[in-house]
Amino acid sequence: MKKKQMWLLRMLCFVALGTITLEAATSITMRRYVFPVQSTGNISYGAAHHDYPATDIFCPSGSLFRAVVDGVVDHVSVEDTWVQSVNDPESRGGLSVAMIGDDGIRYYGSHLSAIAAGIVVGARVVAGQTLGYTGDTGNARVTPPHVHFGMSRPTTPEDWATRRGEVSPYPYLKLWQSADVVVPVLIAGED
Ligand SMILES: [Zn+2]
Repeated sequence: MKKKQMWLLRMLCFVALGTITLEAATSITMRRYVFPVQSTGNISYGAAHHDYPATDIFCPSGSLFRAVVDGVVDHVSVEDTWVQSVNDPESRGGLSVAMIGDDGIRYYGSHLSAIAAGIVVGARVVAGQTLGYTGDTGNARVTPPHVHFGMSRPTTPEDWATRRGEVSPYPYLKLWQSADVVVPVLIAGED
């Protein structure tokens, strides 16, 4: 009887300690993804983009360009310095916002007509928050108004060649447009 009690006590200690260790090490959070443009007008985009992976989302100027996921603002361009005769690729985006999502991906939207209030480098944003207003700045002056949407790895904020896009957003845009997407994510604990 005494031996059995000791064994039970040991087992309980083991289970309790094991549970505490696991809870301290990891927990699960929910991550929400939303479509990056909200508009009362027509939204259209195709699977193809010239030269490198990205998606041009056509929509009326003044539509909302939104954070796809929670994250931190990485880069903001508040001036349209594009000159058609020069066509410098660095200035083609016009007004733009890039953010690093909590998923580690950089999301970029350009050709904006204005940047939303409070959107500065380092600002914390949540999924669905307005980052700016769509338009036709940069080289979109010579096309119908659209948001150039890019997804890439984060490098330095000024690295325009990367932030303009490295992976096609098209399949993700289709998914997020059909409904908000929520995925469970394992996060590391304090220790
Ligand atoms: Zn584009």
